[in-house]
Amino acid sequence: MTTSSQIEFEASPTFAGRLDTTDVLKSFREKFFMPRADDGAEAIYFTGNSLGLQPKSVQEYVVQELKDWEVLAVEGHLHAKHPWLPYHEFLTEQMARVVGAQPIETVVMNSLTVNLHLMMVSFYRPSGKRKKIVIEKGAFPSDQYAVESQIRFHRTEPPAVAGGLPVTDEGLSIAQFQPPATAGGSDLLLELTPRDGESTLRTEDILETIDRHADEIALVLLGGVNYYTGQAFDMKAITEAGHKAGAIVGFDLAHAAGNLELHLHDWNVDFAVWCSYKYLNAGPGAVAGAFIHERHAESFELPRFAGWWGHDKATRFLMGPEFHPMRGAEGWQISNPPILQMAALRASLEIFDEAGMSSLREKSVKLTGYLEFLLNQIEDERISIITPKDTEQRGCQLSIRVKDSDKNLFNTLTSRGVFADWREPDVIRVAPVPLYNSFEDVFRFAEILKRCLA
Ligand SMILES: *Cc1c(COP(=O)(O)O)cnc(C)c1O
Repeated sequence: MTTSSQIEFEASPTFAGRLDTTDVLKSFREKFFMPRADDGAEAIYFTGNSLGLQPKSVQEYVVQELKDWEVLAVEGHLHAKHPWLPYHEFLTEQMARVVGAQPIETVVMNSLTVNLHLMMVSFYRPSGKRKKIVIEKGAFPSDQYAVESQIRFHRTEPPAVAGGLPVTDEGLSIAQFQPPATAGGSDLLLELTPRDGESTLRTEDILETIDRHADEIALVLLGGVNYYTGQAFDMKAITEAGHKAGAIVGFDLAHAAGNLELHLHDWNVDFAVWCSYKYLNAGPGAVAGAFIHERHAESFELPRFAGWWGHDKATRFLMGPEFHPMRGAEGWQISNPPILQMAALRASLEIFDEAGMSSLREKSVKLTGYLEFLLNQIEDERISIITPKDTEQRGCQLSIRVKDSDKNLFNTLTSRGVFADWREPDVIRVAPVPLYNSFEDVFRFAEILKRCLA
């Protein structure tokens, strides 16, 4: 893998232009709609970590499905150009390549937090002393809510039934029952916190915590890349440590899928979930992904929330009363999928296939390295980068801490045609994306930032 430290960068438009000229992925920018700034010039779009740009090919893919619906109606399930019945299968192999998985381990379904819940229903199995979940302190709120609610869900004892009315231990009917404050679930969280004075976690500390609490941990659940700091975790080492402790290991790859080179199968990760509207460019609310390692492909004894789309394909339409899950990740599907959303995702995944994750990552290391180099040239004590310097511990994103939480700086950037985002209390996140951002974007951004600070 190329590391940015091997390149001698220069802070000049000519140098940025030269990097663009030699960029083998340069032509991919043309495949996307780039928003414009107020003055009509192309904006500097550094929020692909939040909502990826629209591939120009999406319209054609979506319109094809609208046409088939118009002309064929219900017959589209079997006779559409891309029949709707097996439509999710058209996405499996390409999505599997994005995350380094086998097709049997990969499914496109639902949205991210929904998939996180479905995975925890099956893979969070608290018992005896082993009940805790390891997460990052300051994890993305949705993950925090999902995890705590799953702890409460798994903790609930089935209410006794008296006189036909479900009652609680205290004899209250369910309608009167207020869960006690201690049922919050946070007591079973093991939250990883950076050392005093540091912004990101040290791998050695993560591994040590897992080891120290080995017999209490049921599940290790971390982001692949932390949404706030941009820190990428050593998923291979964390998975090994989790397994050594006897725990299940899952990852939320919202900020990692389409950003890092992932090898979920080889790393032996138990499960993973991610969304497709960030780096994967499949549009707002896009249909998400899930990975379940092949060794669980036939773990039919695991509890799961079932629905007909997870039922054995050969007998699904016999509409029998008993649920027979499919082997592999597909067996976790519940409903028949949203075809229009999947059409948009198909268009996007074809672009990923064409570019290839390893080329994307190679450019990304350079692009973000160049951004870091230029930011470091700006000698202004009001800004500092909290994302790790080590390229192995980050993806596209750099998180810039602004002294005294001065949001004016961010507002001025926005007014000058920069798409970045502000995260309370004091961070501007910027993510140059290798598919559609250029070295010139990075150079222009640094110049604008310098002027805003002056
Ligand atoms: C973006 C993001 C989410 C969003 O969840 P949805 O279910 O897609 O709304 C959740 N978790 C993380 C870590 C994210 O980055």
